[in-house]
Amino acid sequence: GYRSRASYKLKQIDEDADLLDPGDTVVDLGAAPGGWLQVAAEEVGESGTVVGVDLQRIEDLDEGDVETIRGDMTEERTRHYLREAVGERGADAVLSDMAPNMTGEYALDHARSVHLARQAFDVAEELLAPGGDFVVKVFQGEDLDAFREEVRSEFQYLRTVSPPASRDSSSEVYLVARGLNTAPVAAGD
Ligand code: SAM
Repeated sequence: GYRSRASYKLKQIDEDADLLDPGDTVVDLGAAPGGWLQVAAEEVGESGTVVGVDLQRIEDLDEGDVETIRGDMTEERTRHYLREAVGERGADAVLSDMAPNMTGEYALDHARSVHLARQAFDVAEELLAPGGDFVVKVFQGEDLDAFREEVRSEFQYLRTVSPPASRDSSSEVYLVARGLNTAPVAAGD
């Protein structure tokens, strides 16, 4: 069975967008307790690689080739370990289900969520191979539109989805961005 109900959200996102393929390298940020890791490992299969990061320790998984890193994604040290784990070829998908500890204060929770989502976006731009995909959770609020436009400008397509499995809770949405643009060649080169 799955470790968390969150698994069904990634399954729904993947069924709609067909993100995860056999052999892919997938990065999962905010991965504890490991529900998304299980789904990703199933989808990428034996030939794929999944790397999960969380502040919390993640119990070992039985499924496939899954590596976990315990650390804070806002710290350079954690990004360094992640970069090493992913290697030169880069990632096919960067997923982030990171969420702040909820205070119940709507504006604060939103601001913290956007901050984490921006960290994930930075990591996606750094680690994704050209054409790679990015999925990120964000709580709705005043900074969502600006963040969405920033992400959109770096990818071919972007959709905002609210998977049925998350509709009963909260204000969370997922931005599903497909196809990281290749960096433009500098003029004069
Ligand atoms: N997708 C997971 C699953 O399927 O089991 C559930 C993720 S849970 C909703 C959000 C996670 O984000 C928490 O485990 C939390 O520790 C993690 N998180 C929050 N801030 C983080 C940070 N700065 N660095 C790494 N992980 C973080």
